[in-house]
Amino acid sequence: MRTDTGQIVYLADYRPTDFVLERVDLTFELHPTETKVEARLIFHRREDTDRQAPLVLDGDELSLLGLLLDQAEVPAHQYVATAESLTVRDLPESAPFELTITTVINPEANTQLMGLYRTGGIYCTQCEAEGFRRITYFPDRPDVLAPYTVNIIADKAANPLLLSNGNFLGGAGYGEGKHFAAWFDPHPKPSYLFALVAGDLGVVEDTFVTMSGREVALKIYVEHGKEPRAAYAMDALKRSMKWDEERFGREYDLDIFMIVAVSDFNMGAMENKGLNVFNDKYVLADPEIATDADYANIEAIIAHEYFHNWTGNRITCRDWFQLCLKEGLTVYRDHEFSADQRSRPVKRIAEVRHLKSEQFPEDGGPLAHPVRPTKYREINNFYTTTVYEKGSEVTRMIATLLGRDLFKNGMDLYFDRYDGQAVTIEDFIKSFENVSGRDLTQFSLWYHQAGTPLVTASSSYDAGGKTFTLSLEQMVPATPGQATKEPMHIPLRLALFAEDGTMLTPTSVTGAELTDDVLHLTERAQSVVFNGIPSRPVLSLNRSFSAPINLQFSQSAQDLALIARHEADHFARWQALIDLGLPNLLAAARDARQGVPVTCDAAFVDALLAAANDESLEPAFRAQALALPSEADIARELGGNNDPDAIHAGRQAILALIAEAGQDVFAALFDSMQTPGPFSPDAASAGRRALRNAALTYLSQSDNAPARAKAAYDAANNMTDLSAALTILAHRFPEAGEAKAALENFHDRFAENALVIDKWFAIQAAIPGAATLERIQGLMEMPLFKRTNPNRMRALVGTFAFANPTGFGRADGAGYRFLAEEILDIDQRNPQLAARILTSMRSWRLLEPVRADHARSALMQIERAGALSTDVRDIVDRILK
Ligand code: ZN
Repeated sequence: MRTDTGQIVYLADYRPTDFVLERVDLTFELHPTETKVEARLIFHRREDTDRQAPLVLDGDELSLLGLLLDQAEVPAHQYVATAESLTVRDLPESAPFELTITTVINPEANTQLMGLYRTGGIYCTQCEAEGFRRITYFPDRPDVLAPYTVNIIADKAANPLLLSNGNFLGGAGYGEGKHFAAWFDPHPKPSYLFALVAGDLGVVEDTFVTMSGREVALKIYVEHGKEPRAAYAMDALKRSMKWDEERFGREYDLDIFMIVAVSDFNMGAMENKGLNVFNDKYVLADPEIATDADYANIEAIIAHEYFHNWTGNRITCRDWFQLCLKEGLTVYRDHEFSADQRSRPVKRIAEVRHLKSEQFPEDGGPLAHPVRPTKYREINNFYTTTVYEKGSEVTRMIATLLGRDLFKNGMDLYFDRYDGQAVTIEDFIKSFENVSGRDLTQFSLWYHQAGTPLVTASSSYDAGGKTFTLSLEQMVPATPGQATKEPMHIPLRLALFAEDGTMLTPTSVTGAELTDDVLHLTERAQSVVFNGIPSRPVLSLNRSFSAPINLQFSQSAQDLALIARHEADHFARWQALIDLGLPNLLAAARDARQGVPVTCDAAFVDALLAAANDESLEPAFRAQALALPSEADIARELGGNNDPDAIHAGRQAILALIAEAGQDVFAALFDSMQTPGPFSPDAASAGRRALRNAALTYLSQSDNAPARAKAAYDAANNMTDLSAALTILAHRFPEAGEAKAALENFHDRFAENALVIDKWFAIQAAIPGAATLERIQGLMEMPLFKRTNPNRMRALVGTFAFANPTGFGRADGAGYRFLAEEILDIDQRNPQLAARILTSMRSWRLLEPVRADHARSALMQIERAGALSTDVRDIVDRILK
C-alpha cells in the first residue's frame, strides 16, 4: 500500500512533458504471481524544452528488471529507479530514442484492483486514474497520447482468450503450452485507457453496421454459462451505438468493440478503448436475478462507457483536474439516451432524486469541491457525484442556454476541433461560445464555484396594472477553500398558470432576459416584471430542474396542488407534490422528537392520492410520486441537530397516515397493476411493477401482520417483485417468522449467485433500528461473506453506512465505531474502496451533539491510525476539518 506523503497536486502547476511519446510497444508474459512486462517506448525531446532535462517516469510499487536505451544496456550512473519513479539522464537532445523497460509484477497479490490483477481466475486491468504506473514505468498522465501495440503471451489452456485495445493483429502458438496474441490500437490514447484481459470466458457475439456502412464485431465476455444473461447488455449496446449516430453524429471507429464482465471491480465500469471492462453487476441480467432498476442501470452504464469513445477517448482530458470534461459530459449523454429510450420526465425525476440525495450533501459538506477542482491529494477521491452528476447538470444548462440546435452545433465544433487531443474545460466552453456568440464567462463559474446555490423567490400580483412581479435572490454558500462567491448565471425555466390551469403568456417581460421559457438570473438580486397577465398567476419555477439549486419559494398548498394537477412539465408536477409533502415530513420529525402526535395536511394526502389514482399519468410517474423523500433527504432539509430515530419515526407516521387514507386506492392499484404475460424489462412494464410495489409498501404499512407481503413474496415471478416483497418483510416485520422464512428461502435459492446474494446482504443491512449492527456482524461471519469482493463490501458495509440512518447512527455510537474498524481493515487491501465507503460520514456535523461526538471519535480513531493510504488520509482529514 502506498501511504500518504501529504503531497498536493495543483492545477496551476500544470506544464506539458519535456518528452513526446511517439509509440508504445508492450509485451506481457502472463503469470499469476510473476508477470513480465517489457515496454518499448519511443520518445523525442519536445522542441521548446531544456536539452539537458532528464526523463522522469511514474511508477507505483514497481521494481526494475532491465533498462535499455536503443537496445543497449543503460549504465547505472545514467538512471535512478525507485518503486515510484524511473529517472533517465543524458538522453538524445533531439533525435528520437527507444527505451526498453522490463518490470515484473504480481497480479495475484494486487488487492487494490488497480493495474494488472486477477479476478475469478482471469487477468484484468484497471488503469484509470493512475493504475498504469503499477504495470510499468511510464509518463502516466492523460496528456501523453500514443498508439499502442500489445503482445500477450500466456499459458494456452488457462487463457484461451488474450485481449487488448484496438484491432486484432494475429496470434499463434508460442512454445510449450503457450500462445500469443497481438493487438494494435491506431488511435493515440493516454495510458489510463489501456486494458488487457486474459483467461477463459464465454462470449456473446453480434454485429453492428455503422452509419457509413462498416461492420463492427461486438463481443461481450462473461463467465462460462452466463452468456444468456448478457443479452440485454448487448441489446443496450446496439441501441447506444445507433443513438450516438443519430443524436450526435458519432460513429464507432474500430473493427471490434468488446466488453468484459468481471466480479471484482472497484467501480461500475471502465471505458478502455475498444475493450470496456465492467463490474458484472452492470452486465448480467435476466428476470430471475435482475430488478427493473438493474436493467435500467445496465442500459445506462453500457451507454455511458460506449459514449466515452468520443467524449473521453477521442477527445480526452489534459490533466485530471479536467475530469468533468469527459465524465460530466458523458453522464449528460447517457441521461439523454435513457430519457429517449424510456420516459423523459420519469428519468428526470430519478436524476434529480439522485442528485439531491448524493450530490447536494457532498456540495453542502466538508467534501465540497468545484466541478473542476484546482487541487487534489488523491485523484481517485475525485470520481465524485459533483464531477459526474453536477458536471452533467452543468452541461445540461449549456444546452438549456443555447437551445437544442446551437448545443448540437457546439458539440460538432468540439468534436471537429479537438479530435485526437487532450483538452480543458475552457476549450469545451469555447466551442459553445463560438457557435452561439454568447459570452459564457459568468456561466463558467458553475465549474469553479463549489456549493449549491440558494435561490430565494417571492412574487406579487398587481391586478390593476395586470403585472406579475417576481423577485429573485441568489446566494452561493461558503465551501472549503472558497469563503466568498460571485453571483452565477442561473437558467430558470418557468411557466405561469391561470386558476383553471391554462398557461398564461406575458405580453412583455422586463428585468431579465427571457428566452422561450428560460429566465436568466445573473445578478445577486433581480426583479422581473411580467406584463399583460390578466389574473393572479400560479408560478411554476425551475421547471424540469433547469438549474441544480436549492429553491426557497413559499407557495400555498393550493398553488402547489394546481401545479401538481396541470403542469405540462411532469417533472414540475412531481416537484410540486414533493414541495407539498416535505413540510409535513419535517414537522413530523420535530413532533416525533417532542413526543407529540404526528399529523399530515389533507391537501398533501389528497394531491398524492389523486396523482396515484390518475390513469392519465404513466404508472412509473405515479410510483415516483408515492416514494416520499428519504430519511437522509429529510435530515438534509432539517439542516442540523438531527436525530435519525425521530426522523425515521416521523416519516413512518406520515407513511401510516397516507396508507390509512389511501387504503382503497392502494388495494385497487395492487390488483390492477399486475403485469400479465411473460416478463419484459421494458419501461412501461417496469413502471407498473414499481407502482404495484409502492402500493404494497403502503398496504403493508397498515397491515398488522405480514401475510399480504409474504403472499406477494411467494407469488413473485421476477426479481423486482421478489426483492420488493422481501424488503417489506425484512424492514416492516423483521421479527416475524415470515420474514425469517423469506430471508432463508431467498438465501437458499440464490446462494450460488453472487449478484443476488449481494441484494440479500443489502436488504438486511438497511433494516432500520439499533439491532441491525449485530445482525451485520453475524452476517460477516458467514462463509458467503467475502471481504475481498468490493460488491459484497458495498452491499453490506456500504449499504449500512449510506442507507441506514437509524442502524448506522444508533445513539451509542457503535455503528460509527464499527465503520472505523472496517475502514482501517479495508484500507490495508483496497484503499479506494475504503475511502469511498468512508465518505458515508460526510454529513456527521448535522447530527445532534451526542451522536456527532461519537462520529467525531470514530473519525479520529481512523485519523490517528498509523499507516493510512493517501485515499483514506485525504478523506478523513477533509471530513474532520
Ligand atoms: Zn465515465
